[in-house]
Amino acid sequence: MKHSRLTTGQEYPIGKILCIGRNYAEHIRELGNETPEAPVIFMKPGTSVIYEGEEIVIPPYSRECHHEAELAILIGKEGKDIPIEEALEHVAGYGVAIDLTLRDVQGELKKKGLPWEIAKGFDTACPLSDFVPAAAVADPQELRIRLTVNGEVRQDGSTSLMIHSVAAIISHMSGIFTLEPGDVILTGTPAGVSAIKSGDRLCAEIPGVATLRVSVR
Ligand code: MG
Repeated sequence: MKHSRLTTGQEYPIGKILCIGRNYAEHIRELGNETPEAPVIFMKPGTSVIYEGEEIVIPPYSRECHHEAELAILIGKEGKDIPIEEALEHVAGYGVAIDLTLRDVQGELKKKGLPWEIAKGFDTACPLSDFVPAAAVADPQELRIRLTVNGEVRQDGSTSLMIHSVAAIISHMSGIFTLEPGDVILTGTPAGVSAIKSGDRLCAEIPGVATLRVSVR
């Protein structure tokens, strides 16, 4: 079983990986999507997680794998129907993740109204950093998110541009799914997503929080 690790050394078995889509206006525009009224939610299985220094394996049924750098939240305290004002009390730590997406496959599934798992949940689809304890982050809505490919900047955004805040996401998701210690939430990606290919070296970074380096096999 995969684990999430706090920089203090404490480990949590990974539970649900809950993801929000379309949470930054510029990214919605770059994909030509409509802005949803309610958050778009999907999941990745724990088996999709890889860690610092590991390799992404793009499945043979895709020709277009995109990186999406995202603020990741580690849940440390169980909750259901969590009020927004109490939401951040359920956070154990913050990290950075890459929500890898087979854009060609996802596009076909979207057209047919089918679920996205094979585009979002394949093995290696969720590179994940260690988490800094929540107390080390003064304001999760004031973080920079960067992603480089082979040293070239592709994404450089700020969590201040989220449509739904971290607290709002936790509150909303906990109305649908009981949140448990070890659950991870990916909070959406800023603009700048692009395709990766074999041999590429990716570095996702939230300065002061986490850095994550992976490559493509
Ligand atoms: Mg995403």
